[in-house]
Amino acid sequence: MMTLRTKRYPCSTCDAEQPHRQLTRAEQEQLKERLGRAGVNDFWICENVLDPDTGKQCRNLRTGWLMKPFPKPIRLPAPE
Ligand SMILES: [Zn+2]
Repeated sequence: MMTLRTKRYPCSTCDAEQPHRQLTRAEQEQLKERLGRAGVNDFWICENVLDPDTGKQCRNLRTGWLMKPFPKPIRLPAPE
């Protein structure tokens, strides 16, 4: 089991500092396809829980140095 690094960053949609983690391999593949770019190692995903009942997380993406790397926020779909 791979251990993913986590870090606190401001999230553009949560509007506060939230725990973020690096993307899993599967999420990286998903994002590569969506963005059509080869390198997505610099992305972090927001783990803020939006709905405590379901455990639904924000999953908004940012990079280590940009809070808004896209014109519109991109959230990765939750895993099945
Ligand atoms: Zn967030």
